[in-house]
Amino acid sequence: MDQKLLIDGKLVDAENGALFDNVNPATEEVIGQVANGSRADMEAAVAAARRAFDTTDWSTNHALRKECLHQLQAAIESEQEEFRQDLIAEVGCPLLITYGPQLDAPLREALTWPAEMIDRFEWRRSIGEADAMGVGYQTEREVWKEPLGVIGVIVPWNFPMEITLNKLGPVLAMGNTCVLKPAPDTSATAARLGRLIAEKTDIPAGVVNIVSSQDHLTGEVLTTSPDVDLVAFTGSSATGKRIMEAAASTLKPVFLELGGKSANIYLDDVDISQALASAVTSCMHGGQGCAIPTRLLVPRDRYDEAAAAATESFANWNYGDPTDANNLQGPQVSKKQQDRVLGYIQKGIDEGARVAIGGGVPSHLETGYYVEPTLFVDVDNSMTIAQEEIFGPVICVIAYEDEEDAIRIANDSDFGLSGNVFSGDLERGKRVAARIRAGTIGVNGGVWYGADAPFGGYKNSGIGRQCGIEGLEIFTETKTVGWPA
Ligand code: NAD
Repeated sequence: MDQKLLIDGKLVDAENGALFDNVNPATEEVIGQVANGSRADMEAAVAAARRAFDTTDWSTNHALRKECLHQLQAAIESEQEEFRQDLIAEVGCPLLITYGPQLDAPLREALTWPAEMIDRFEWRRSIGEADAMGVGYQTEREVWKEPLGVIGVIVPWNFPMEITLNKLGPVLAMGNTCVLKPAPDTSATAARLGRLIAEKTDIPAGVVNIVSSQDHLTGEVLTTSPDVDLVAFTGSSATGKRIMEAAASTLKPVFLELGGKSANIYLDDVDISQALASAVTSCMHGGQGCAIPTRLLVPRDRYDEAAAAATESFANWNYGDPTDANNLQGPQVSKKQQDRVLGYIQKGIDEGARVAIGGGVPSHLETGYYVEPTLFVDVDNSMTIAQEEIFGPVICVIAYEDEEDAIRIANDSDFGLSGNVFSGDLERGKRVAARIRAGTIGVNGGVWYGADAPFGGYKNSGIGRQCGIEGLEIFTETKTVGWPA
């Protein structure tokens, strides 16, 4: 298992030689050790990224950046199967999901789309000639887009490659340098990536630095350093708020991809039984996905039919060993997360919701941090389980009176990341989608995902967009230039 940090182009141990354990959440066994970076390591990484940005031609050399992104793509593909095994072992991610969003899907385009956009991006645009201040002096003006500088990239453990690649691609394509801080739980994947960057690409020393650390707070070096120009963060809303506070001391912009509590709205013109037959898919990857819909909104007069269909779908779900291709749900990533999810289930019961199925730790799985796929019915949207992000296989069925009420409930949330609308009438579905305060919405099963598709949240779900043109622009500065016409 890879274990080194990548600082200034070199694969190194932590400066104090420290290591920390990497645990497989399905077997509960230690599968390896990773260098435990310190604040001093993080500071060295920031200094390297600063130097690479300020003193090399990385920020201006489009051809080099394009070439390096394609090299990185090839390097990752050369160990794609090893990445797959790492992700199953350290995240507990089911094998099948690695063929989709966990690895293969982002690998198709997260680096290559931004690489191609280097040539197509509107780096300079004319805003025309003007007597700008009304004194009879004609000026020609242009708006220039420039790299922003050193980016602090902080990522979570649930989709480590998907999130890392969708940040690295745009960050590097736009000409920035960076320091990546992976989540402690998924440091081996990050260490493999670091080795490939060092050994199989011409990415110049200091352009990408990767510092793993068991202590979350090592990441504070990135949020407080005057040498970091922007923090790009994916993680929980609580940490996002803390990062924004820390960044305020240096007036650093922050780009935050945070949590969600997304709703699926099943309008009254759909076949409710059929629509709810796939309700359990929200338990995929143990519910450890920020955009997973965890509130299912159904018409009150069809509630019993909906609850029965959803319960049946939960009863027919395969979960367990993530190496088994039949399972779409593995363990929670850690004992801490398992305990957290179980705590929310208890809270749901205490507040009066009813467990239709699941509700505990599965008895047939002897090791691993598993939680039963759990369906709550008789849920009021004001309950804790309907308001807070659980990040587990816990789904709520909530009744609404009419279309207006469904929209009100969907929007009655601190979050606004994603959701779905299902209707027998596509145009009606789109009208409802337009009124949901969330950054991404699927209508009738449509999928919004892609390297060219902006992703992010309203409200407590974040600030800024990853991917798409918006996700390139966020890593640029804007300079307006004028000269005599
Ligand atoms: P987390 O917020 O606990 O940690 C995320 C990262 O931040 C980790 O690398 C962690 O070490 C680091 N960190 C923690 N405290 C820090 C601090 N004070 N300063 C700097 N860095 C710090 O989140 P998690 O438990 O790793 O991931 C789960 C969360 O991520 C969920 O809330 C989920 O919704 C969210 N998420 C959001 C998206 C999205 O795109 N919107 C995608 C995936 C996950």
